[in-house]
Amino acid sequence: MTTWPFGTDADEHDPQATPECGQHGPMEQRQPETPEQRWCGTWYQCTSFRCGSAALLPSLELRAQLAAQRAASSKAAA
Ligand SMILES: [Zn+2]
Repeated sequence: MTTWPFGTDADEHDPQATPECGQHGPMEQRQPETPEQRWCGTWYQCTSFRCGSAALLPSLELRAQLAAQRAASSKAAA
């Protein structure tokens, strides 16, 4: 089991689960428009045309970078 140095809801989230819009139900996966979006993880968008809800399942790379930033900022604060 992989242990992350930080605890977030995402860590406990099933990576295979599909995010849901609170009003419209399961979202559909959206193709990333930029390499940056692709790098950040998997994007989901509400299936309702008028609803702007979207969700991101962060990639391991993004989570690792966030952890590094958090470690650096806590070091700077100390
Ligand atoms: Zn929606």
